[in-house]
Amino acid sequence: MANIAFIGLGNMGGPMAGNLAKAGHAVTGFDLVAANNEAAKARNVCIAENARAAVKDADIVITMLPAGKHVLAVYEDIMSATKKGALLIDSSTIDVDSARAAHVLAAKAGLQSLDAPVSGGVGGAEAATLTFMCGGADEAFTRGKSVIEAMGKKIVHCGGAGAGQAAKICNNMILGISMIAVGEAFVLGEKLGLTHQALFDVASTASGQCWSLTTYCPVPGPVPTSPANRDYQPGFAAALMLKDLLLSQEASQSSGATTPLGQHAADLYKAFAAAGHDGKDFSGIINFLRAGLK
Ligand code: NAD
Repeated sequence: MANIAFIGLGNMGGPMAGNLAKAGHAVTGFDLVAANNEAAKARNVCIAENARAAVKDADIVITMLPAGKHVLAVYEDIMSATKKGALLIDSSTIDVDSARAAHVLAAKAGLQSLDAPVSGGVGGAEAATLTFMCGGADEAFTRGKSVIEAMGKKIVHCGGAGAGQAAKICNNMILGISMIAVGEAFVLGEKLGLTHQALFDVASTASGQCWSLTTYCPVPGPVPTSPANRDYQPGFAAALMLKDLLLSQEASQSSGATTPLGQHAADLYKAFAAAGHDGKDFSGIINFLRAGLK
């Protein structure tokens, strides 16, 4: 069992740190928000005074923070306080350039590192069923996997530094685009007099089949577990989908990739969020399409 430091005990980090403690690891955490520290305490996470104190004795340091600038600031702060030989794992969803910069900071300090963003949401964090997409050296991956297993059920080594973040934003760009496509198809079907069930029965077993349709159907009825059946409560909030689409477009620009549908999906989710729907599940964009983008 390892000594683990966990920085960022929010919606995702809190339950993830709790699952590490449940698996028998000694977990010391820190968050800027006192209430999050209190909630983590109830999950058997010891709370340190600050991030530097949290990492002092850690073999493994995990960060779960909002964005690249937070990760780089925490890395700058903790680097000189971190034990020799420790492994740094960043599970936040951040831009690929910042992820690579975080690996460089770790390497300069002689530490191993992984970028390891997740999918599966708060439900997956609670149930320890997250998917981890990892980028980093083979040795770092093998070492990290042994603790990541307490928080997730699928752990993929995607390649070198930044490859985990790259896989995450490429996947979520597919998801954002495909949800809009499925929403448009239902809206068009309605205008043409098709029932939701008829379109679902055909498309779910034909060439229109995709996760946005068969697991997360944006109209109530065909898939009873989808957020459409509970007034689009998330799930995966539109604000987070917008964040990931914007990251994908930043990466497209800096790498020179052409992703016009990714850009269009980002624009549509930006308008959806600006209309006050950022807290709704991202599948709720069907209602925005139906209302003529209002
Ligand atoms: P959150 O805002 O609930 O948690 C982030 C936490 O980081 C906050 O509690 C904040 O106080 C803390 N923090 C910020 N700066 C800090 C610092 N310097 N030191 C210590 N703590 C600090 O966000 P979340 O929903 O837990 O998401 C975390 C990351 O996971 C994000 O990058 C998000 O995009 C990603 N993610 C979220 C979901 C989801 O469904 N919520 C799913 C997949 C990935």
